[in-house]
Amino acid sequence: AKRQGRGKAVFFQSGMHVQVLNIMRMESDLRKAFERGEFCLFYQPIISLENRHTVSLEALLRWNHPEKGLISPDKFIPLAEDTGLIRELGLWVFEQACYQLKYWQVRFPHHHNLGVNINVSAIQLKQPRLVREIETIIHRSGLKPDTCRMEITESAMMNDPDLMLNVLKDLKGLEVQLYIDDFGTGYSSLSYLQKFPIDALKIDKSFIQNIDASDKSMQIAQAIIALGNAFDLRVVAEGVETDTQLNILEASHCHHVQGYYFSRPIDKEKTENYLSIIVH
Ligand code: C2E
Ligand code: CA
Ligand code: CA
Ligand code: CA
Repeated sequence: AKRQGRGKAVFFQSGMHVQVLNIMRMESDLRKAFERGEFCLFYQPIISLENRHTVSLEALLRWNHPEKGLISPDKFIPLAEDTGLIRELGLWVFEQACYQLKYWQVRFPHHHNLGVNINVSAIQLKQPRLVREIETIIHRSGLKPDTCRMEITESAMMNDPDLMLNVLKDLKGLEVQLYIDDFGTGYSSLSYLQKFPIDALKIDKSFIQNIDASDKSMQIAQAIIALGNAFDLRVVAEGVETDTQLNILEASHCHHVQGYYFSRPIDKEKTENYLSIIVH
């Protein structure tokens, strides 16, 4: 047994003790990493099937660990959410992505109206000051607000739909675009879909990856595309890896696509090379 504050005895099973210590270490590592500037953004193009133009770039966070190399966000976002670091980290992502996009819009004007997609977690959306902070960043960056697209997962939206409805209305008041991410995995109620001021749906990659193997996945993807058309929402398919998947999506009149087939998420320098190529 260990004695803790207020004289309470806390019993650890030996495995659990190690686990708690590990979490505590990761927690302080994460904050230090943020202060040392070890986080960076990668970008993945989103392509229109109408004309094959790159219409937007999704900003994807990476931890560039001095020993372990690049660490994927699935490994540290949950911890950043639990510890509250996500608030600062999320704003940093927003700021980086907006300033970077503005710079690229000026430098590569042949990508007319290029947008940036930014992932926002539910915890950020519950922060009362978020809307004002985002407004300030967009204003300072000089970005046209509708080239800024915020991606919110379906499960985050459905976790507290009444609160989300108010936050989304406030965000929509800034004229940013709102995307539902991982659509099809989080049990949306269609009545909310109608009430939320959203612009686009992103079909979760689990459906896209089975689209050529499973009739059910194909039908779900096509139903989401039909739903998008009925509600006047843009539909983006993520996780496109093969030309078979692409052909099915094209035949189903999906609007935008994203995935390894076109490009993996790439660092800033590679993104500049990508953007500098002019396709006629
Ligand atoms: P997400 O928003 O659903 O992002 C799509 C994930 O799929 C990305 O993983 C991307 O690299 C990956 N991906 C893209 N195309 C393909 C493909 O063709 N095949 C396969 N198998 N995967 C593909 P990543 O970059 O590891 O990000 C994982 C998740 O972490 C994201 O899922 C998002 O939920 C979260 N995330 C990333 N950046 C941020 C951020 O700045 N803030 C917050 N709150 N979450 C973030
Ligand atoms: Ca996303
Ligand atoms: Ca997604
Ligand atoms: Ca996801």
